[in-house]
Amino acid sequence: MIPYGRQWITDEDIDACRRVLRSDFLTQGPEVELFEGAVADHVGAPHAVAVNSATSALHIAYLALGLGPGDVLWTSPITFVATSNAALLTGASVDFVDINSKTHNMCVRALEKKLVQAEAVGRLPRIVAPVHLAGEPCDMAEIGRLSRRYGFRVVEDASHAVGAQQYGHHIGSCQYSDITIFSFHPVKIITTAEGGMALTRDAALAGKMRRLRSHGITRDPLEMVGPSDGPWYYQQQSLGLNYRMTDIQAALGRSQLKRIDDFLSRRHELAVVYDEAFKEFEHSYRSPDAYSALHLYILQWPSTSRLSRQQAFEALRAAGIGVNVHYIPVHTQPYYKNMGFQEEMFPTSMEYYRRAITLPLFPHLMRDEQKHVIDTVLQLTC
Ligand SMILES: *Cc1c(COP(=O)(O)O)cnc(C)c1O
Repeated sequence: MIPYGRQWITDEDIDACRRVLRSDFLTQGPEVELFEGAVADHVGAPHAVAVNSATSALHIAYLALGLGPGDVLWTSPITFVATSNAALLTGASVDFVDINSKTHNMCVRALEKKLVQAEAVGRLPRIVAPVHLAGEPCDMAEIGRLSRRYGFRVVEDASHAVGAQQYGHHIGSCQYSDITIFSFHPVKIITTAEGGMALTRDAALAGKMRRLRSHGITRDPLEMVGPSDGPWYYQQQSLGLNYRMTDIQAALGRSQLKRIDDFLSRRHELAVVYDEAFKEFEHSYRSPDAYSALHLYILQWPSTSRLSRQQAFEALRAAGIGVNVHYIPVHTQPYYKNMGFQEEMFPTSMEYYRRAITLPLFPHLMRDEQKHVIDTVLQLTC
């Protein structure tokens, strides 16, 4: 089966992990700090906090921004459940903003309309979490403008967008957001097996997130309330968790990061071949103002095809092509329906979902494998 996404591990990556295994630190230590510095430098953000997953990064980002009971967070229905689940874990409630039919990212017109209505009833969100679907950046300048007008904070879920750029800046530089989070899950752009990171320009937020990832504890005498008891002393100042990344993972991440430009250019080369083959169909939009990380190549299954999306999905799997669907709209999950969400509250997301199909795309996808995907799709759509 050709998977829809796959990591690329080299001997150099393995050597980097092996060196850590023979060193003094296995869990969070010098390698985590080096990896944080390397990612921060790459994207142009002053502060980076590495954690054990993007889900954890979202959770501490929301907590650091004060999200909690009585607050609301808004995101896109077309995302992985983690974006909204992490908000529910803080005790806040969530709501969704429908997607744009062309970009499949949160629609800024729908966002503005919903903000006007929310302001009128005094129920503005504390945080809006745009998701850069497939690695294509959301309209961040516009979301930034709305955040200043309506006073909400912005957390970019850039799980798909490590290495992406917009208006000449890397995603993660937080030009228009408070915090950006990355995922290093194996199918994403670079991997640490499990892992995530939160980036910010705000030193105080970074400090809060560092404490939250490790039990709310600080060992820095300068951050302490009152004098330190001595060199052994640590102080718990908030309620935190153990979300630490290991040094083994960080070493893998830093080794992978060295090849990110090659990973992205290979994804772009393959996507151009798909674009040409599928120029008759709707597929993942790419703005001329941005450089997508192209985490996913999503086709909208043509409604004129003799096969339904489901039949096509099954036929592609039977032909050894590991297609997938990103994503089942979060608000249609039973857990969310129990909160009162109904499918047709976000009609563009539903329309998108019913035809979405993700084709294999990863840096070492072979040309003959890609040709097999293209030939099979074209056969099934004719
Ligand atoms: C993968 C993903 C996450 C969660 O990432 P983990 O590192 O697996 O916790 C969150 N949001 C989106 C959009 C994702 O694709």
